[in-house]
Amino acid sequence: MFENLKISEKCSNELENAVKQGRLSHAVILEGADEETRLAASKELAKAIVCRSSQKPCNNCPDCIKANADCHPDIHLLIKDEKSTVIKVDEIRTLKEQAKLFPNDADSCVFIISEAQFMGIQAQNALLKIFEEPSSFIKFILTCPSKSALLETIISRGSVYRLSNEESALNSDEEIQFSNDSANKFLVCLCESNEFEFLKLTSQFQKDKDRFQLVLTAIVPILRDALVLSNLSDELISNYKDTAKMLSLKFTSDKLINLIEFTQSLSQQILASANYNLVLTRFCSAFYQIKNS
Ligand SMILES: [Zn+2]
Repeated sequence: MFENLKISEKCSNELENAVKQGRLSHAVILEGADEETRLAASKELAKAIVCRSSQKPCNNCPDCIKANADCHPDIHLLIKDEKSTVIKVDEIRTLKEQAKLFPNDADSCVFIISEAQFMGIQAQNALLKIFEEPSSFIKFILTCPSKSALLETIISRGSVYRLSNEESALNSDEEIQFSNDSANKFLVCLCESNEFEFLKLTSQFQKDKDRFQLVLTAIVPILRDALVLSNLSDELISNYKDTAKMLSLKFTSDKLINLIEFTQSLSQQILASANYNLVLTRFCSAFYQIKNS
């Protein structure tokens, strides 16, 4: 498997063994490497899942031939519409409907969600339902540059494989903790109307686009928790309950939704390589605009 792909030997062996021994998780998350490699790896893995030869994928059986021609009826590929900035919640709902059907040719149905970081919080939450109670014949393969772009609840229900050799410095537990804490600090400043501190914090990320992207990703679950608390529910996903509580008391649900959508749109702008300084400026001005609106 993966012979022609530039992915780490360790990762390749782990996936190959999991397929061979029939213990591949129902939700595989492929992170790292470049977009093209991630897509190719996800298709190769899907082919190995539907192949019924002993050497998977054999590249000779009808399932492999169809998979190679991108027309296997049991391999479904969800990829962001070029015109859209996100994978929409409706697209996940359609996928959920498809996931209720039995496979046509193979023993399993494989759903690839390519560049899963484009799923907003709502889409990820919609996906979570099938992640929790999957049918035995369903497999999901999610690809993304880094698992940190996904909700903790999604990550914890899947198996993460890192495709690239180089260990990203931004992927360590300390880095993730740092982004989570920074996200929390931004939101505390916002609640306390401490605009000066907010600007000071922002300036720390002036030369650190990748790290700021992680912070934006970490802001969303806290805002989402605030929204959940405003609606008198307590299914929280972040570790910053106090901040979420404070936000829920200071902001209306509409404003929280605006903040979530705005944070996600900034994140997309960074991914789409927009002018980074402009993104930072918008971040500061719009957060306070929404607050004071
Ligand atoms: Zn085959």
